[in-house]
Amino acid sequence: MSADLLDRLRVAVGPRHVLTGDLAAGHCRDWTGRFVGSCTAVVRPGSTDEVVAVMAACGGAGVPVVAQGGNTGLVGGAVPQGEAVVLSMVRLDAVGPVDPVSGQLTAGAGSPLARVQEVARGAGWRYPVDFAARDTATIGGTIATNAGGHHVVRYGMTRQHVVGVEAVLADGSVISRLGGLVKDNTGYDLAGLLCGSEGTLAVITAARLALVPDVGTVAVALVGFTDVAAAIRAVGGLRRTLPGVEAIELMCADGMAAVGAHLGASIPISGAEAYLLVEVVSTDPLDELATLDSVGGLVDAAVASDAVGAAQLWRWRESHTEVINRAGPHPPHKFDVTLPLASVAAFIDEVRGDVATRHPGARVWIFGHAGDGNLHVNVTGPSPDDTDIDALVLGMVARFGGSISAEHGIGRAKQPWLHLSRSATEIAAFTAIKAALDPRGLLNPGVLLPDQRLS
Ligand SMILES: Cc1cc2nc3c(=O)[nH]c(=O)nc-3n(C[C@H](O)[C@H](O)[C@H](O)COP(=O)(O)OP(=O)(O)OC[C@H]3O[C@@H](n4cnc5c(N)ncnc54)[C@H](O)[C@@H]3O)c2cc1C
Repeated sequence: MSADLLDRLRVAVGPRHVLTGDLAAGHCRDWTGRFVGSCTAVVRPGSTDEVVAVMAACGGAGVPVVAQGGNTGLVGGAVPQGEAVVLSMVRLDAVGPVDPVSGQLTAGAGSPLARVQEVARGAGWRYPVDFAARDTATIGGTIATNAGGHHVVRYGMTRQHVVGVEAVLADGSVISRLGGLVKDNTGYDLAGLLCGSEGTLAVITAARLALVPDVGTVAVALVGFTDVAAAIRAVGGLRRTLPGVEAIELMCADGMAAVGAHLGASIPISGAEAYLLVEVVSTDPLDELATLDSVGGLVDAAVASDAVGAAQLWRWRESHTEVINRAGPHPPHKFDVTLPLASVAAFIDEVRGDVATRHPGARVWIFGHAGDGNLHVNVTGPSPDDTDIDALVLGMVARFGGSISAEHGIGRAKQPWLHLSRSATEIAAFTAIKAALDPRGLLNPGVLLPDQRLS
């Protein structure tokens, strides 16, 4: 990077907000530690105008820009390569106020998800997108990955809650549509297009978010089953008989044992091989959960109806990612996939069997959002650059009619495998959209699509 560009970046955001060397290093590796890259600077703009100035400086120098929020992404999508400039969005963190009439708020792209949830609750509303990285993941990151999480079974993915965005395009121009019109069929849905775009089409600077009313009380049940097949068979019945169901999460015996060792606690129920964590929010959630007794294959259940007890049960599910990340000897290969619900149990048997045969010593950990058929398949043992394991697991997902990315995105981790879930025609359409909005390929090159600068 030329000294000239560094000077221009310092003018754009102020010298304090241009980080280099050791100060930038933490921005060049992902949360898992599997993906490590490089950059020449991290810049922290404090306004949309400053983002525009950074884009102009980088565009002038022909240097790629990697937007980064909380850097909690699990597919290496925010990890810069080569001489890229990291655009850290965390200073764009203004949230609210909540509009009590529309039930909406505007949030800066760098606002932590938990802060948006807090502001919404303070006004009698909820922002229902939720997952374990809530304190660090940002609104911009959740939009760029179209994040899912625990409540998709009731409220849908992030895209369902984004009413408008403000974003800076690759050429430094700004699109801004934060008026909050729920009905607005005036052409292409650019906000929807940016959901799941992984920093490759524009830099999101703010978003208008639709909230849901904060009504009812919560109860959570940890339900044990004889096996995964019984747990998955229960999902449809739970959705049908529990009108207030907000989460149906799957865990397996080995993952629960590892989490128990980490927490220094005993699993609240015994004798189960598979578990569902079921959350209900309604006027009488305990009454709804009483119907659990009739669920087939159920071994036992533990129920909590106060916030402390509910949080304790949720720890069993939310600690999985962190515990598996430490299982070693290397960072895990993480596969966030969706399967047709009817195939989930057969897929789990087959993936465990095939990995054991082809990679003796590897361990397969499976948990996920059962209500959506979304499994988090983690394989520990193989080294980070062993792509045979990726080919095996993702190839099997495709054979079962699933998607190779349920909610984490494609990033760098799955870029070579995109063709398993998308046709050549679809990828050509993606490439045309990318070329139209970012003709020089400077926004997050190599993520989602091949590096366009080389073609
Ligand atoms: C413990 C744990 C649990 C998790 N659970 C879930 C889960 O249940 N569901 C789920 O969906 N995800 C989950 N994740 C993954 C991750 O938290 C989400 O992908 C999240 O949306 C990333 O937000 P971020 O701000 O950290 O984005 P980053 O990691 O910083 O970036 C992710 C991608 O978004 C792009 N990006 C970031 N900000 C912007 C912006 N302002 N404009 C344009 N592009 C941008 C980046 O370039 C990158 O491609 C989990 C992660 C962890 C560590």
